Amino acid sequence: MSSAGSKKDAQRIGIAMIAGLIVGLILFKTGQGELVAYVKPVGAIFIRLLKMMIVPLVLSSIYMSMVNLGTPEQLGAMGRKAMGYYFLTTAIAVMFGLIFVNLINPGVGADLGTQGLDGLSGNMAERVQATEGLWKTIIGVIVDAIPTNPFQAMANSTVLQVIVFAMMFGWATLYHMKESQPITSFMTSLEHLSMVMVHGIMKFAPIGIFVLMLDVMAKSGYGALISLSKYIATVIIGLLCHACFLMFVASWRLKKSPLFILKGIYPALMTAFSTSSSAATLPITMTSVEENLGVHNETAKFVLPLGATVNMDGTALYESVAAIFIAQAYGIDLSIGQQMVIFMTASLAAVGAAAIPGAGLITMSIVLGAVGLPLEGIGLILAVDRLLDMFRTTVNVFGDAVGTIVVDSYMDREGKV
Ligand code: ASP
Repeated sequence: MSSAGSKKDAQRIGIAMIAGLIVGLILFKTGQGELVAYVKPVGAIFIRLLKMMIVPLVLSSIYMSMVNLGTPEQLGAMGRKAMGYYFLTTAIAVMFGLIFVNLINPGVGADLGTQGLDGLSGNMAERVQATEGLWKTIIGVIVDAIPTNPFQAMANSTVLQVIVFAMMFGWATLYHMKESQPITSFMTSLEHLSMVMVHGIMKFAPIGIFVLMLDVMAKSGYGALISLSKYIATVIIGLLCHACFLMFVASWRLKKSPLFILKGIYPALMTAFSTSSSAATLPITMTSVEENLGVHNETAKFVLPLGATVNMDGTALYESVAAIFIAQAYGIDLSIGQQMVIFMTASLAAVGAAAIPGAGLITMSIVLGAVGLPLEGIGLILAVDRLLDMFRTTVNVFGDAVGTIVVDSYMDREGKV
């Protein structure tokens, strides 16, 4: 089977991406943007093919990684390490966001038509209500993670519920290996065939990525880029710094150069950038991490699906910048205490965000509500959300990949390969 990031594949994806950018821009400039409609279905097919693989891959890979780990102790150790990594890196991402937004102040003096809304933050009753809402949201995420019907969860592609079911199934298997034999061999086949299909879909990636980039570039509405340029720059600088930090950690734990890591993970990053969905990118992240970076199979199969669903460094960073940008644009001064609330809620909102395009914007309301900022503020940043989603999703996926490297490097394998 060919490697997910063979030099040729990576080159093709790179060329497709740049070609999509250039051709899209030409179409936009020449007023021919509507021509994209003819090829748009190709991009839709690419995303649908990736999504098609999510449920079989998540179910079989989580289950098989648990079975391969062999003992509940190993499983617990991996789970704790993964959670520790998610928690730490998400907090660091939000910190980067808070530092840059306070240094650059992108919303200060921004004329975005927000007059007359000053003082909206002062309403104590509103804030108490929002905090209660936040608590309810957290509990809601936990309760909703438990499927009432695992088949329905699979049918609806509710990834977190599928993960919970696969984990419980895997856990039961660890205690009843003999009786589980038929299920285990079914899952082994399902996992193998899923990977074969993912490799097939990867061949289609350059065309899919080309069309998706074409579509983004050929769309009009770039006027917003100018008025929100400082905000866009703040988010992108923050994301870049966090990506550099993650690269440093990956390079340290893997003992490989950043270039090696970048080359290995490149197909996943490009797919994340063009699809804006960590979940859709998951099949490619898995193959890239295992085959190009040499992460152990059972680590990648356990840590990546979990990471794609709950670990979103890019989204957390983005939400903290966006919330403070909105406050600045409305002329609302946030105290250190309120910034701390943003710190916590942005991290939680990122956990709650689904791994699909635009999810981060929806969970923004949790962050805004917790500090009493007007929810209409979301309207200010709506125009550039699709663009920033591409960047934050890329960092989300990179964070998941690095998490796998880190957890793998700390696992005590006791003779396991
Ligand atoms: N699109 C992001 C992802 O799939 C989530 C978000 O909207 O921030 O990772």
